[in-house]
Parts: sequence; structure tokens; C-alpha cells
Amino acid sequence: MRLTFVQIHQPPVRRRTIIIIIALAIVSLSSIVAGQFYWVSKAYELEETKFNNNVKESLSGVVNKILEINRDSSTTKGVKQKATAFFAANINDTPPPFLLETLLKEQFKKHNIHETFEYGIYDCFYDSILYAKRVDYEHQQPNAQLQITSQAEFDADGHYIALFFPNKTQAILRHLTFWVYSSVIIILIIIFFTYVINLLLKQKKLSEVKADFINNMTHELRTPISTIGLSAEALVQTSVLNDPQRLQGYVNIIKNENERLKSQVDRVLQIATLDPKKVNFKLEQLSVNEIIQRAAQTFHVRIDERGGQLDLHLHATRDRILGDRLHFTNVIYNLLDNASKYSKEAPMIEISTQNEGAQIMIRVKDNGIGIGKQHLSNIFEKFYRVPTGNIHDVRGFGLGLFYVKTVVQAHKGKIKVESEPGQGSSFVIMLNAQ
Ligand code: ADP
Repeated sequence: MRLTFVQIHQPPVRRRTIIIIIALAIVSLSSIVAGQFYWVSKAYELEETKFNNNVKESLSGVVNKILEINRDSSTTKGVKQKATAFFAANINDTPPPFLLETLLKEQFKKHNIHETFEYGIYDCFYDSILYAKRVDYEHQQPNAQLQITSQAEFDADGHYIALFFPNKTQAILRHLTFWVYSSVIIILIIIFFTYVINLLLKQKKLSEVKADFINNMTHELRTPISTIGLSAEALVQTSVLNDPQRLQGYVNIIKNENERLKSQVDRVLQIATLDPKKVNFKLEQLSVNEIIQRAAQTFHVRIDERGGQLDLHLHATRDRILGDRLHFTNVIYNLLDNASKYSKEAPMIEISTQNEGAQIMIRVKDNGIGIGKQHLSNIFEKFYRVPTGNIHDVRGFGLGLFYVKTVVQAHKGKIKVESEPGQGSSFVIMLNAQ
């Protein structure tokens, strides 16, 4: 029996397609936004001009009417727009307020203006507004604070009718409901597009991680399965069957490899389905320095074999935490394992502890290959491994740091990494000291 494994490669075209989709989306959305902005401002300008003209016509209608009533033969000196919502018309005499209000309402009705307005009569002799009132068609608010008085500034002599629209912008916007709706729809489209693109990028990353994981899995399982296959093939040969010693040898190989396979699959399944809420952490008072010392003792052999060095600088005086001994030891072990795995030359590892306020800081530093900036935020994710192309010189499933982070967080701690390619890495854990 020959076992063949197929290497799964990540499809190479996807990245370009995604870049094109994002670029097209950005170009088309920004054109739509620019177009919308242009048309909305044009429509606003148009509505405003219409409103201003209607007000000016109404006000000159009022002045003409007053002249007519007073049998004054002089002509109006025109209506001026003094500010966005403030209009004024020159008059020869001060009309009675009631008459002025009636005339204004009449003219506004004729010109289709139904907005709240404030009117006043200004006398230059006193340099102040003699009389002012707000006319609110919707909510009768006679005591509302008048704004017209602060708006009125006159430089010429004579009497003026002053007119102010406190809600002019809202009034214009009310005529632009179509544009308001279409702008809201465009905003929704942009949110939707951003969401879809985000989803696309996540999917892409997920498929990359999946392809990587399957490649790793294939790689890791290949050796024991082939060995079992070859041994099983050998078992059916008569020469082996007749030689109990060789037979026993092959049976042992199959047994051992099967054990290895089982423990690997178990480990992957255990960590992949790790849910901190369901793990039964057995919390007890632990000495962080002591746990590190013990882990380091076990680890020394591996480092020595490679001619490396493992130094401890355990300076934390308050080193007690409330934690799970087994899981916490695994955390230190995993970090040491990575520090050694990802060092091409003799690993030089340093573990230090120190107190920072009420916390204890644990730092595992190595002189290994380091990690590129673009991968730093991903390495704690499940199954994530820094891509190495097809070279599988370092074994792993991308689960170690996910496990470390999950356990640290379950201990209400934090973990971060500082690293640069070729400059080694430092993993820093912060925990609450007891
Ligand atoms: P594994 O080691 O099984 O791949 P981990 O979750 O422990 O999974 O690590 C995720 C990835 O982070 C690794 O594939 C490796 O690329 C990177 N990494 C982790 N620790 C180190 C380290 N000390 N130095 C360099 N790279 C590291």
C-alpha cells in the first residue's frame, strides 16, 4: 500500500481580484458621493434663492400696501437681505404692529411661506427695535426668546421693517426631502459595501488559514501514517510472519506511531475546540517564579542539545497569582517551545519577571527569526501561522499562541508581542499579583 498526499495550494488569482473589486468599489462610491454632494448643494442653493425671492417680494408687497394706506406717493427703497435669514425694508413711518402682522401674513400666504418668523420695527432715532414679535404657526410660543433683536444692525437713517426666519435652514431642507432620502440611501449603500468588502477580506484570510492548516496537517500526519502503512505491508510478508522478533518489531512500530498520531489529533481537537468558559480551571495560589523555574529545568535539555542558553531573571518579589497550575505551566512551556522552534541558530532565551504596580510582568525573549509587522496582530488567532511558502521546516498547527492567549485571558491577564524580523521576539504577559 502506498499513501500519497496532495498538497493544497492557495489559489493565486484571488488577491488581484479582491484588489480590483475594492478599487472599483472605492472609485464608484466616491463618484456617487461627489455627484450627490454636487446635486444636493445645487438643489439647496436653488431652494434658498426661491425662498429669498419670495420673502423679498412679500416684504415689498407689504411696504407698497403701507404706502398705499398712508397715501404716500414715494416709492419703496427696496428690500435688503442683511444676513442669510434676516431681511429689512425701509419705510417712512412706523406702521401699527397689528397692521404690519396682518399684511405680512397675507403676503406670506400669497407667496407660499408658512414658516415661523419674527418681525420688528426699527427706529434709527432710538437706534433700537421698537416692537418685535414672533409668529409661530405650529407651536404658539409667545414667550420664546426673540432672536431678531440680536440680528438687527442698521447703518442708515429712517425706519425699517425687520424680518427674521429662525428656522430657515430646516424650512429649505423640508423642501429637499427627496435629496435627504437619497443621501440616506447612499450612506446605507456605503455601509453595506464596507461590510461586504470586510466580509470578503475575512473570507479570504480564512481560506488562506484553512489552506495552510490543511497543508500543515498533511505534513504532520504524513510520517506516522506512511510508517504504519509500510509496517502493515511488511507484516503480510511470509519472511516476517515466520520471524517472531521482526514481527514484534513491526507491531511495536505500528503501536507507537498510532499513539503518536492519536496524541497529535487529540491535541489539535482539544485546542481547536477550546472554550475558556467550559474549561474547568482549578484556581490556586501559584508562585510564577517557581513555575518558570520548573518549566526551565525540563526545557534546559532541549536548549543544551542545540548549544543554546536559557537565562532566568526572576526579579518579581510579589510573584503570587491565582491560577491553574497545569494550564499556566503549559503557557510558559508553549512560549519556550516557540522561542526555541523559531530560532535557526543556537537559541538564546531569556525569561524575566518583575512587578509593575499591582501587576506581575513575565517576559519571554528570544533571538530567533522574529515576526513581520503585518503578522503580529494575527499570530494569536486559531490556526494562524506566519506563511513560509511550501517550506515546512518548523512543525506546528498554529494553535500554541491561541491556547496561550485563551489561558492568559481566562486568568484576567493580557499578552502582547514585540518583534521584528531577524531581531528576535519578546512575549510579555501581564497578570494581577495576589
Ligand atoms: P505553531 O508554532 O504551532 O505554528 P503558534 O500559535 O505557537 O503555532 O504560533 C503561531 C505563529 O507565530 C507561528 O507559526 C510562528 O510563525 C509565529 N511565532 C510564534 N512564536 C514565535 C517566536 N518566538 N519567534 C518567531 N515567530 C513566532
